[in-house]
Amino acid sequence: MVQLVTQDIEAMLKGQRAYFATGATRDVAFRLEQLKRLRQAVSQHQTDLVEAVQQDLRRPTFEAYTFEIGVLMEIDYAIKHLKQWAKPKRVFTSLLQFPSTAKIISEPLGVALIIGPWNYPVQLMLSPLIGAIAAGNCAVLKPSELAPHTSRAIATLIKNTFDPAYISVVEGGVEASQALLAQSWDHIFFTGGTEVGKVVMQAAAQHLTPVTLELGGKSPCFVDADVDIEKTAQRIVWGKFINAGQTCIAPDYLLVDRRIKPALIDAICATVRQFYGDDPAQSPDFGRIVSDRHFQRVSQLLASGNTILGGETNASDRYIAPTVLDQVSWNDLVMQEEIFGPILPILDYDNLDDAIAQVTKRAKPLALYIFSRDRAYQKTILERTSSGGVCINDVVLQVAESNLPFGGVGPSGLGSYHGKASFDTFSHARSVLYKFFRFDLDWRYAPYADKTGFLKKLIK
Ligand code: NAD
Repeated sequence: MVQLVTQDIEAMLKGQRAYFATGATRDVAFRLEQLKRLRQAVSQHQTDLVEAVQQDLRRPTFEAYTFEIGVLMEIDYAIKHLKQWAKPKRVFTSLLQFPSTAKIISEPLGVALIIGPWNYPVQLMLSPLIGAIAAGNCAVLKPSELAPHTSRAIATLIKNTFDPAYISVVEGGVEASQALLAQSWDHIFFTGGTEVGKVVMQAAAQHLTPVTLELGGKSPCFVDADVDIEKTAQRIVWGKFINAGQTCIAPDYLLVDRRIKPALIDAICATVRQFYGDDPAQSPDFGRIVSDRHFQRVSQLLASGNTILGGETNASDRYIAPTVLDQVSWNDLVMQEEIFGPILPILDYDNLDDAIAQVTKRAKPLALYIFSRDRAYQKTILERTSSGGVCINDVVLQVAESNLPFGGVGPSGLGSYHGKASFDTFSHARSVLYKFFRFDLDWRYAPYADKTGFLKKLIK
């Protein structure tokens, strides 16, 4: 079976290499045309895509449109800026090079492999593809097997839109992913968990293939005493419980100034009821856990701390209620790994330095959130921590800003994308120095005789 898959993949890759070699994808007009085709296909099939995501994740319609079909905005941004991004950039040259000029030319890498996760299965498959197309590459996509309806819908959409020698989809699970990773690619773009990220990087190392790793982590959320408590609660509850908490940049846990903790907890609990009613299992606006395995994993985390809201589960429906945990310690199970489910642990602090020390002791997260009106508080946390990105006085929205590169740092990821960063990720910045035949500093040539003394004076 794997043998067959491998043969198919080899033939597919060979076809894409031949297509890339024709030079068709280097033409910026061609790339713009393909982005427009992608835009039209997504726009035309948005209902199919939304329905597929709903079948996989029981995603509320509003969330499915916002977070999946929202990829159209990313396509529009690329279409608007591509000509500018693709222009060679002239740079100054030093006097030592006189006479000369120099340029940096962005060239496509070749054939890219894009492996996606299940949690935002349309957005996280197509968003990197936009970068690959914009930069002039061919691409093979591997959607997640845990969102099978979306995987099928994407495969159909791509098949009906593009020549498979240019862009194609391989569906399947870990075996398909590993068969793809065994090949030699010009770039691998992976979105998923940190452990699988290591597998991807190891496979890429065999061919010295550059990788972009969009991984996860425990994203902390600091809450100062100087905040608008109602707004803070609303934004945190929104960011934590969209997609039933299965969001890579969801605030994983709160670190709250002890003085406002009781008021914040009250506001959070009231907001959860306001959003999802007294029984969130009945709410059309609250999703479900993607698989039985993930349901079991997240359910175990409910034993940590003291449950002050939620905690109910229903295995047959893969339902876990939006849950708020108080009295959580750093040693509890819920604090050992990325939660990736609808559980919000609340830790408190008296001394901000101690809270920062706890965060910096742990792996650098994908996102970090700060709620405070106090500039000094914001600055202290910014200067003394590290994370892929930051959002101050809100959550998650940094991902929706095309002018900001999106990615992790250390164990939460390597490289970035969105907007121009996507174009750069899938391009090679090629340096070109232009020299002329007239005028030459011929003292660089042998015999060197006594030129070294002069050189020492020049570069001392
Ligand atoms: P995952 O790592 O289990 O799977 C991602 C992809 O890798 C899937 O297509 C899967 O088929 C493939 N895969 C799984 N095991 C593999 C193996 N052993 N060898 C080769 N390929 C393998 O991740 P997931 O469960 O789909 O997604 C959840 C994780 O992804 C979370 O940690 C989350 O934080 C992270 N994530 C990150 C971002 C981001 O933008 N940084 C976005 C979404 C999700």
